Amino acid sequence: MGSLRKTAESVSRWFEKHHRNLPWRETSDPYAIWVSEVMLQQTQVITVIPYYQRFLSSFPDLKTLAQASEEKVLAHWAGLGYYSRARNLHRGAQFLLKNHQGRFPRSRDEILKVPGIGPYTAGAVLSIAFDLKEPLVDGNVERVFSRYFALNLPTDSPQAKRFFWEKAEALVQLCSSARVFNQGLMELGSLICTKSSPQCGRCPLTSSCAAYEKGIVDELPFKQKKPKYQNLHQLKLLFEKNGKMWLRKNSANEWWSGLWDFPTATLKNPRKWIPEVENKAKEVGAISWRELSHQKHTVTHHRLQIIPVHLKVKTGPLKDGKWVPVKEIPTLPVSALVKKIMLQDF
Ligand code: SF4
Repeated sequence: MGSLRKTAESVSRWFEKHHRNLPWRETSDPYAIWVSEVMLQQTQVITVIPYYQRFLSSFPDLKTLAQASEEKVLAHWAGLGYYSRARNLHRGAQFLLKNHQGRFPRSRDEILKVPGIGPYTAGAVLSIAFDLKEPLVDGNVERVFSRYFALNLPTDSPQAKRFFWEKAEALVQLCSSARVFNQGLMELGSLICTKSSPQCGRCPLTSSCAAYEKGIVDELPFKQKKPKYQNLHQLKLLFEKNGKMWLRKNSANEWWSGLWDFPTATLKNPRKWIPEVENKAKEVGAISWRELSHQKHTVTHHRLQIIPVHLKVKTGPLKDGKWVPVKEIPTLPVSALVKKIMLQDF
């Protein structure tokens, strides 16, 4: 690994030579840069270009945007998706007009008070528009850093997040222009150190990249393993007598503890649930039973396949519960699953 100063210089030099010419790179107007950064979140460059141009021709400055109706702003966003971004942009413009005479504050703390502006956008506007040495980290930067430093941590862990911001901060302090370096880092992630086919042969960082050196480029970055789900099949037994159903309260060591629920049985063999119901029906002397629509539900690492069965009974050989009029069940403290089951016709 070379010195961080050299790393910052290599990225900057590469960007000066190889960057794409994009409309928002032709300006240092913080408002225009802000608009482009918000649009580029979760959306590809090629899609953003015409939207950016249309948006800026209708709302050429912050004041025009702040004074426009939300309807008009949203109409310019139609098709880009994630409309909360447009609403935040609009609200942010109104906030800046009201509190900063329509100008962008040049301090990170102040800019972070603007609705919708988080650490990434703050870093982007401050460094790209004002060339201030403020760090930024987006998905591209995370990928480049994970590989360049051969980070053996899931990128979505708090430790990794801290690591990324610390490195971004250290590097931006060492570069000659934050505007060039920060954009260079992101451009490197989008063009060279890409998700599925990193082109180490064309990368300005190859000679000092730890993942390249160790031959583990394709193993990085990685995310935390999602917990594995276990499938469980359960019967929910809806005993009904004279318009009332039998409910019991879940105990402290059960799911939905303290909530009212139907008696539940976990099936050892999900394909043989009918004999289990028949046995139960016999045990309680049920007049009839009927299978209701099956339900899927996820609860703490379990995917539940629920087979609700409606059993009409004359007597209630049941303990630890109470009879509740059918209509009142959804008004009791019950789980979302019980509510879903109760939406069916009986
Ligand atoms: S050398 Fe390869 S893995 Fe390392 S930063 Fe460059 S493209 Fe990414």
